[in-house]
Amino acid sequence: MPGSQELPIIWHPSPNFGERPADSTIDMLVLHYTGMPSGEMALERMCDPASQVSAHYMIEEDGCIYQLVAETKRAWHAGRGQWRGCSDVNSRSIGIEIVNPGHEFGYRPFAVQQIDALKALCKAILARHDIPAHHIIAHSDMAPDRKEDPGELFPWQQLAAEGIGLWPDEEAINPPSKTEKTAENTDQSTYHDDQVSTAIAAGEHYPPQNTAALSESDAGTHRPNPAEDATSSKHEHTDCEALFDSLLLQFGYGPGDPIHNRVAFQRHWRPSCLNGHADAQSIAILKDLIAQCPPTA
Ligand SMILES: [Zn+2]
Repeated sequence: MPGSQELPIIWHPSPNFGERPADSTIDMLVLHYTGMPSGEMALERMCDPASQVSAHYMIEEDGCIYQLVAETKRAWHAGRGQWRGCSDVNSRSIGIEIVNPGHEFGYRPFAVQQIDALKALCKAILARHDIPAHHIIAHSDMAPDRKEDPGELFPWQQLAAEGIGLWPDEEAINPPSKTEKTAENTDQSTYHDDQVSTAIAAGEHYPPQNTAALSESDAGTHRPNPAEDATSSKHEHTDCEALFDSLLLQFGYGPGDPIHNRVAFQRHWRPSCLNGHADAQSIAILKDLIAQCPPTA
C-alpha cells in the first residue's frame, strides 16, 4: 500500500494518473486548495475518469488524509504552467489538494488539524524525496495566469518554520530603522528615498540611465513643477515594476502576464498586500528569497 507507514492515510484510488517519464525524479511539491463546496465533491471529481484531474493526496478540514495516486505515478494536478523553467510539473511533482471552498465558494482560513496533518504529510514526503525548499510551491506560482490556490490565507510561514518551503528572513520583511515609515506609508506602490537607488544598484537587469531621474526626485531641495514631478514619479514607478518583474522571472515565475506573477508572488510570500505593486517590501522579500536559491539554469 502506497504512502507513509506512520501517518493514517486512507487509500482512495483514482484512475486519473499516468506513468512518470523513465528518467524523471520527484523534486517538486505543489500545494492546492480544492476550490469546491465540499471535500466529498472534490474527492468524487478527482476519481471521475471524465474529469481528467487528480492529485496524490487530499486533506480534509478535519485532518483526514486521502491518497488517490501512488507517488511513483504521475498525477494530473498541475496542468499548464511552469516553475524555474520546468513546464511539465506533473512529471516531477507530488500534488496535495487541501480542502477549502476557495475564492469561488467561500474562501476561509485553513483548519488547525488540517494544517497539522499537512505538515506531517509534507515531512514524510520530504523524507522520501529530495525536494528543495524553492521547489515547494503554490499552484498559483506555476500557473499565475489561471490559478489562485491555495491562496493568501494559506499559512506558508508556519510550514516554513518547520522546514517546509522558503520564507524570507525577518530582516527582509521588517528591515530595521527607517522602514517603520514605509510600513505606515499608505502609498506602497513605489519605492522611496534611498531604497530606490539601493534596489536599482542591486538589480542587474536594470536600465542605469533612469537612475538620474530617480536621484533627482530624491533630492529634497529640488522642487520640480507638478508636471515634472508626475513624470519623475511615473518613471520611478515603471522602473520599480521592471525590476520586480525581472526578479520574478529570475526567481522562477514564467513569462506570462507580469501582473499575475506579482500577485501570485504576494499571495505566497506577502499575503497582506495583494495589489500587484512593485513596492519596496515586496522587492526586498523577493531578493531575500532569490539569495536563498541556487541560480536558475
Ligand atoms: Zn490547484
